Amino acid sequence: MSKTVRTRMAPSPTGFLHIGGLRTALFDYLYARKTGGKFVLRIEDTDRQRLVEGALENIVQSLHDFGIEADEGFYWKNKIDQRGEHGPYMQSERLDIYAKHAQELIDKRAAYYCFCTSERLAELRKSQEAQKVPPKYDKHCLNLPKDEIDQKIQNNEPHVVRLNVPTGQQIVFEDVVHGKIEISSNDVDDQVLLKSDGFPTYHLAVVVDDHLMEITHVIRGDEWIPSTPKHILLYQAFRWELPVFVHLPLLLSKSRKKLSKRDGDVSVKDFLAQGYLPEALLNFVAFLGWNPKTEQEVFSLKELVENFDLEKINKSGAVFDLDKLDWINGLYIRKMDTELLLEKLVPYMDHDMKVFPKEFFIKIVSHEKKRLKKLSEIGERVGYFFKQPEYEGELLVWKKADKNDAKEKISKLIEVINSVDEKILADAKQSETFFKNFINENKLDTGAVLWPLRVALSGRQASPGPFELMEVFATLKNGRDEIISRLNFALKLLS
Ligand code: GLU
Repeated sequence: MSKTVRTRMAPSPTGFLHIGGLRTALFDYLYARKTGGKFVLRIEDTDRQRLVEGALENIVQSLHDFGIEADEGFYWKNKIDQRGEHGPYMQSERLDIYAKHAQELIDKRAAYYCFCTSERLAELRKSQEAQKVPPKYDKHCLNLPKDEIDQKIQNNEPHVVRLNVPTGQQIVFEDVVHGKIEISSNDVDDQVLLKSDGFPTYHLAVVVDDHLMEITHVIRGDEWIPSTPKHILLYQAFRWELPVFVHLPLLLSKSRKKLSKRDGDVSVKDFLAQGYLPEALLNFVAFLGWNPKTEQEVFSLKELVENFDLEKINKSGAVFDLDKLDWINGLYIRKMDTELLLEKLVPYMDHDMKVFPKEFFIKIVSHEKKRLKKLSEIGERVGYFFKQPEYEGELLVWKKADKNDAKEKISKLIEVINSVDEKILADAKQSETFFKNFINENKLDTGAVLWPLRVALSGRQASPGPFELMEVFATLKNGRDEIISRLNFALKLLS
């Protein structure tokens, strides 16, 4: 029987969750769910200098908000917590485990103590640079006699533990995405495994933890490929079975360069604050390096689980296209229930919900949702509904007409609107029929009537149509008055 699949995300709390991290978490989660396995969330906080306050909570809570909950390790339920039988899941709480394993490597001569001072290492680097050879530790401390080592340790001389990389060996491993990867051990440095403060480096901790936590599939970003040969050597030294390696393609900007802040490499929190819906963002992220090989583009988390497959992960860089994200987000906005959407839009609207009736907001949203790409756009788009907008009188003039004609049409409109049944104004379809009849009966030009009407109501070059606008205003107690007042304002601008 094959082993239960166990995947993990192992973020360092050195910053808030970014798109790349969200993608790693999602793919690890999807594969675990798809195979009935477990997804583990472990925190790699061994780089003490780079810790960022609040990052841990941000990562765990953000994943929770996307519905990506770990079966083991860190998870969020009103607060941050850990669960599972392979804990602790925070590396800084596992120092004794790494020390024990470092000792095991020393005993096997797969690792060794190094007492070199930073001055000596700097000298070494300088001379290697002068000789134009790649910087590498020269194994100076590899063959120190045992009693000298003991003495130095007894004297509390600062030291690290280094990996004893064998010379002249081919390190080979299979990657599910990239196939066979091969590198000469001569190109691998004698990596520090345990630092002088007793903390492990990433390389030792990641291998020990992936083994002890019984991780079967290491699914992570491409940027970790160069580290993998060091990990392979460690697995070999411990005589541990290798996990399956799955390195996800790099995220690229539209110009196929490394993704920068300007191209959208900002924290997930910033995306959500701009009004991208979590479901849409997740759908978009799923396509960064994966493709269902069908036409379908809209996937819920559940559908992603059903369709996910490691074989469908691409090798080449995944282009991060903000226009595509806007498009997907627009799709999700349009699909969303209007009342629910309104709730999400309120924080971006800056208008007192108590001053205007709810129906007014609902109507605004039901017309705007057709065009909206992200929630944050709503504020600038709908300000004119709440207050008579300022604009240039020229805007009221239909392209085939003139000021006088606009004035005349607006005066006619005031008359008609004053006498029409308010029920007609309250229904865009009915008012469309009504006004089109009026235009036909009076042999008027459609644009010459509807253009100034729409501009008078919105003050804008582009907006929903005049019938939709009247429908919105008709939800106000004094809806007709509001419409007439805006038409009068337009007349004043034209005189
Ligand atoms: N701590 C590493 C990171 O910050 C984890 C790399 C890995 O998945 O092995 O991404």
